[in-house]
Amino acid sequence: MGDLSKNFNVSEFACKCGCGLKEPSPALVSLLQNIRDRTGQPVIIESGWRCTQHNKDVGSKILGKQGIAKGQRGDETASAHTRGEAADIRIKGMTKKDLYEILVYLYKCGQIDELEYAYMIKKSKTNVHVGVDKKKRNNRFGGEQ
Ligand SMILES: [Zn+2]
Ligand SMILES: [Zn+2]
Repeated sequence: MGDLSKNFNVSEFACKCGCGLKEPSPALVSLLQNIRDRTGQPVIIESGWRCTQHNKDVGSKILGKQGIAKGQRGDETASAHTRGEAADIRIKGMTKKDLYEILVYLYKCGQIDELEYAYMIKKSKTNVHVGVDKKKRNNRFGGEQ
């Protein structure tokens, strides 16, 4: 039994830099618990909360020396990770494509209504980014980004 929901603990969402930020949005917890319940598989959170500084560090790792432009991934004003409204997740034994396709399927069946958007993380074989923030966007499912 987790302290946030049946299977999730608040510590799993903590920012990796050790700053202490960790309390995720209730919609995110509900989304991940639904994914857990529908797939019957443990959902591993690779990255939950990111404070502004840690998000910048992650962003420059992804984008390299050219830095981060406004609105791009890693830009702290854009990333839902800096508001506890997004997580990078994986499920053991699944590729990111497997997981992504399951998320698309579950969403279309109305089983994960909390999901606002998802994409496969380019630099990873297994991780998918899921977010619950209600920003206006063209595509709920962004493919590989
Ligand atoms: Zn931090
Ligand atoms: Zn992410």
